[in-house]
Amino acid sequence: MNLLIMGPPGAGKGTQAEVLVKELDITHISTGDMFRNAIKEGTEMGRKAKEYMDKGELVPDEVVIGMVRDRLSQPDCRKGFLLDGFPRTVEQAKALDSTLDSMGIKLDGVVNIVVPLEKLMARLTGRRVCKGCGASYHVLFNPPQAEGKCNACGGELYQRTDDNEESVGTRLKAYEEKTQPLIDYYENKGILLNINGDQEIKKVLEDILKTLKK
Ligand SMILES: [Zn+2]
Repeated sequence: MNLLIMGPPGAGKGTQAEVLVKELDITHISTGDMFRNAIKEGTEMGRKAKEYMDKGELVPDEVVIGMVRDRLSQPDCRKGFLLDGFPRTVEQAKALDSTLDSMGIKLDGVVNIVVPLEKLMARLTGRRVCKGCGASYHVLFNPPQAEGKCNACGGELYQRTDDNEESVGTRLKAYEEKTQPLIDYYENKGILLNINGDQEIKKVLEDILKTLKK
């Protein structure tokens, strides 16, 4: 099975990707790992990417696509793969389509993890950090024993500016604006699978597997 996974910040995409590749016994291809490996191994595409990165420039699509192509040609992808973090734009999606076509690979589905905005907001704004020792908490998922106080050192907990509603709102809006055309693109191709991500991790996985079977 050849899949792609998408989801906004806070939707639990990383966690789902991990459990999904285990369950389906396919290879997880996260763009970050792919970049790091290509650069470390000094492949042609890796060297090209590094040149741009060293100059502080964006790596062009044809280089990223080249890296994806190299990665998908490796034997561990024959059993199937889950692409994570790519494509991010419709242009990249089209380039991916022609690359897959030329390799004789078919994309079976695009898993899109959907979580209501207010839930994402609650997840992403819940982080609290200790002023004393830097320990990190979450008001929903990992609350301190005493409200506003660090378990380890008793220090005062605060919210980073990156985690406040305004910053998080801006981040989520940017994601939505950038990603909607991509979602439309895959919906038109009939391979978009919208999955309710506002449930327990296990339940989300079950829903993905059920939808894939259809
Ligand atoms: Zn502390």
